Amino acid sequence: MSPTELTVASYKADLKPIWCPGCGDYGALNPFYQALVECGIEPKNTVIVSGIGCSGRFPYFCKTYGFHGVHGRALPTAAGMKMASPNLNIFAVGGDGDGLGIGGGHIPHVSRKNIDLTYILLDNSIYGLTKGQSSPTSPLPMSSKTAPYGYVEEPLNPMAMYLAYNASFVARGFSGKPKQLKDLFTKAIRHKGFSMVHIFSPCVTFNKEVTFKTFNDLVKEIPPEHDTTNRLEAMRFALDDKALWTGIFYEVDRPSMQDRLVDLEQRAGHYRDLNELFDHFR
Ligand code: SF4
Repeated sequence: MSPTELTVASYKADLKPIWCPGCGDYGALNPFYQALVECGIEPKNTVIVSGIGCSGRFPYFCKTYGFHGVHGRALPTAAGMKMASPNLNIFAVGGDGDGLGIGGGHIPHVSRKNIDLTYILLDNSIYGLTKGQSSPTSPLPMSSKTAPYGYVEEPLNPMAMYLAYNASFVARGFSGKPKQLKDLFTKAIRHKGFSMVHIFSPCVTFNKEVTFKTFNDLVKEIPPEHDTTNRLEAMRFALDDKALWTGIFYEVDRPSMQDRLVDLEQRAGHYRDLNELFDHFR
């Protein structure tokens, strides 16, 4: 199928999503299909890698290749795939527990290496699949099954973390605003290098405190005059405690890991086999 013949149906798997009715993740899936169409991403050349959690089901609902891995390891798995097969379109999908709890240690490295893939972080501020425990982004003093009298741990700020580690594309959307989300996905896919899209994606079943209303009240779009190459300004939006900003916070063009390896190969020369390489150092 040529890219011009692709439609949303080209990406919809036969398996219908089984998230709870009203789950925020539906609001991310449809714009994702639309962005794939817009970018002419061919399903046969595409892999979606996920970790564990409700967001981990994402690849099942897409007619692409998929890999549902272990908890917190979507990013390194996706990075390895891209390094081994640079011509594939690689996506990683995870939630706040998966990507900021057990998987949080991968953030600095995938950011600094600037591996050309797109990470979608579906944040509902709770562990939904395991039925309602506090997560790394649960706000104070949100109650949950593990914090019936209120949470006592300071929540992480994923945008500030990715900006601090100089990820080359950092954006945020809300699953209640699908049009903006499609636009963010499209730009993230077209970005050469690592791109992350953080999404407020409420869990309607287990999180009764961080809801669609919360975001409808607090979400604001970053003004168009924002200079997206200014990391300090991007950080100001990330740290603002009066509003939850959405849009592209930061985007810079810098060589990806793939670019640097091609350059390295040229500098290091080519060896036909290992003996030739060893000879070089004898
Ligand atoms: Fe969505 Fe929450 Fe249901 Fe999981 S438990 S599918 S996050 S609404």
